[in-house]
Amino acid sequence: MSRFWNPLVAELSPYVPGEQPQSRDLVKLNTNEMPYGPSGRALAAMRDAADENLRLYPDPESQVLRAMWAQVQGLEPEQVFVGNGSDEVLAHCFKALFQPDQALLFPDISYSFYPVYARFFGLSFTPVPLDQQLRIHLADYRRDNGGIIFPNPNAPTGVLTPLAEIAELLTDNPDSVVVVDEAYIDFGGESACRLIPDFPNLLVVQTLSKSRALAGLRVGAAFGQEHLIEGLSRVKNSFNSYPLDRISQAGATAALQDTQWFEDCRARVIDCREQLQARLQGLGFEVLPSAANFLFVRHPDHRGSDLQAALRERDIIVRHFDKPRIQEFLRITVGSESDCEALTGALQAILG
Ligand SMILES: *Cc1c(COP(=O)(O)O)cnc(C)c1O
Repeated sequence: MSRFWNPLVAELSPYVPGEQPQSRDLVKLNTNEMPYGPSGRALAAMRDAADENLRLYPDPESQVLRAMWAQVQGLEPEQVFVGNGSDEVLAHCFKALFQPDQALLFPDISYSFYPVYARFFGLSFTPVPLDQQLRIHLADYRRDNGGIIFPNPNAPTGVLTPLAEIAELLTDNPDSVVVVDEAYIDFGGESACRLIPDFPNLLVVQTLSKSRALAGLRVGAAFGQEHLIEGLSRVKNSFNSYPLDRISQAGATAALQDTQWFEDCRARVIDCREQLQARLQGLGFEVLPSAANFLFVRHPDHRGSDLQAALRERDIIVRHFDKPRIQEFLRITVGSESDCEALTGALQAILG
């Protein structure tokens, strides 16, 4: 507490990101990063962009990147918004597109940044419980609301909501914006982007942090009809008109062009996920069906917090959430083939 703070600051409850340890000798399976390095073409484009032109401001509208991303999604550049990581894009959504007079709806077990943003922007919210199988049950969102947001697949469960159910929700909920946070969609789902022409109330958010292995670059995007994108741009241009620097615009554009790298790496992650799931089930774990690059698992005989601590002693970090209903679960990022070996070896030793 400081007497120099704006009173709002003392009231904040900031988001706590997963640990980013300085030691490199850890098997890091706690923040859903890619185990493989990014596209070589993206790295080369960023090296090329590190030249004397850095004295100039970047394109405030990121036009080349937006045109590229539009092409990837089969949309128009005017239907694409980009920002400094999808976290920033999401923040702009909360400010620009959710209504303050009615409660925002999101799953009770979900991305823990949502309640932080809601409080930060003065929005009331109602968490909607996941069902018994820890799935998002969209029928429960058919009530008055100031907006709806959920990840698909959901985090930290990895469970995918079928696109047909999302289309139904969009039809039944025409008067507020539905944001689908697709941070993990490339690992096993179909993007809701193809519903955009039919629904003026749909905004889809994606990121290069997970499936493009560029968490360190901080590039995210939103896709929707032009009127929604214009709302986001008005907020962005009232806050930071240059969210993406020259190097990230160049790197992100090249990363999106490198289809070969993308298809190879996501196939490899999906393959490792299936193998890891089978091996964890062999060790007695219950594994939720995952369409993401992580698994949400629990063991009938061992506490989640104990397993996390025991893995940590063996230099493996996984994520544990000390929250009702999911206390006994661990969220484990699908790492490289050797990470998965290390993890299953350690678990075998711990479980005896
Ligand atoms: C990782 C993640 C994000 C944030 O991604 P950045 O683009 O790195 O900011 C957003 N939503 C969910 C559900 C995530 O897991």
